Amino acid sequence: MPRRIDHYLATLVPEEKLDFYAVVRDFADEEIAPRILKWEREHQLVPDDAIAKMGELGLFGLPIAEEYGGQGGDMTDLVLMGLAIGYHSQSVAITPGAAISLGAKPLQLCGTDAQKKAHLPDLAAGRRMFVFGLSEPGRGSDAANPQVTAVRKGDHWVISGEKCWSTNAHWASHVIVHALTAPDRPHGKRSTCFIVPMDEKGVFYQEMSGKRVWTMSSTGSIMFDEVKVPSDAILGEENDGFKVMVTTLNGGRLFVASLALASAAFALDKLRVYAEERIQFDDKPIGRFQRVQDVVIDLDILVERNVTWLMHCCRLYDEGRLDREQAAKVKVDSSRAASELVALAMEAAGGVACLDEFGLMRHHDDLFVTRVGEGSNFALKDLIVRPLRLRD
Ligand SMILES: Cc1cc2nc3c(=O)[nH]c(=O)nc-3n(C[C@H](O)[C@H](O)[C@H](O)COP(=O)(O)OP(=O)(O)OC[C@H]3O[C@@H](n4cnc5c(N)ncnc54)[C@H](O)[C@@H]3O)c2cc1C
Repeated sequence: MPRRIDHYLATLVPEEKLDFYAVVRDFADEEIAPRILKWEREHQLVPDDAIAKMGELGLFGLPIAEEYGGQGGDMTDLVLMGLAIGYHSQSVAITPGAAISLGAKPLQLCGTDAQKKAHLPDLAAGRRMFVFGLSEPGRGSDAANPQVTAVRKGDHWVISGEKCWSTNAHWASHVIVHALTAPDRPHGKRSTCFIVPMDEKGVFYQEMSGKRVWTMSSTGSIMFDEVKVPSDAILGEENDGFKVMVTTLNGGRLFVASLALASAAFALDKLRVYAEERIQFDDKPIGRFQRVQDVVIDLDILVERNVTWLMHCCRLYDEGRLDREQAAKVKVDSSRAASELVALAMEAAGGVACLDEFGLMRHHDDLFVTRVGEGSNFALKDLIVRPLRLRD
């Protein structure tokens, strides 16, 4: 059965992008979907061969310029990849998704020519992965004031402290560390970003245990024990590291919105089919009950409305005209609405929704990450309200 979301994408996306989407969707249907249950039940991270296949498809280089070996694509391509793979599994989609939108993106936006030449070709080919080291055990939403420090010692810097929640840490070649460098300077101007190799002396990684969401995605804690890096490891300007991080998050939030909508799109198709198959009260499919229909209709409206909105945001992003509030709003609304409706879709389906093989429980759990990741929805409302205030 065709995905209902494809009906909307056909009117929103140019033909060559739809062709790309179809290739990734078919790859996800054939190579990812049949294997997910096994990976989940065996508590595996996305296996190396699946990552290699995504690399062969060029997914790690999507928006990286062709001169660096990438596909020369844009934010629309990235979001289409999120919709195509996230339909089956957010955790599989976030692996190339975070590698691009959080790993390679800061380098593309703020790297020097030398840094780009040194890393982008390997990142585009999937031979290297950068992780985004913003969050810390003691610093989540208050990310402008890191507890990880970098102190200048002659011609190099010494980094100490701990990052956590680092997506893709298991496969990472480098971590972009956001560290406090000038505690006395004004808010937002106290920190600097550094590119640090994961195999540098004093860097220790550990996979975070007990995580019940995005189960196939690697999430690590990374410790820095007086790690020495040269000055040319600085990404962007000294003491302007927060700007590097927040600029990156704009695109990351669009990608997270695509994952939330991919889950809603899956729930819509799953419920449409099940509601026709499941017979109760003699001969009635449960889809004939109006309350079940309401959930199907609301999912369909959410998918059409927010995919249209998201594509509009992608266009603005690619033209350099997307405000931070706009990226935050589409992420907040898509994640909240998809979470509410996927929970209702499970209720509309009944007990079968408790089974892992039915697929909705995975999306239900993964949707929680879309509400707190890349800025918790509650905290992002501080940003969203700013242009609405009549005075500060
Ligand atoms: C699976 C996963 C993957 C992640 N990947 C990465 C990654 O790759 N790199 C990275 O750096 N980080 C990553 N994160 C971290 C993520 O960005 C943080 O979880 C998020 O920024 C919120 O921080 P926190 O969890 O510390 O919550 P806190 O900052 O402790 O906030 C807790 C709660 O307090 C409330 N709150 C906080 N501030 C406000 C406010 N201003 N207004 C109203 N309410 C507020 C909200 O309810 C919020 O949810 C990941 C997180 C998860 C769960």
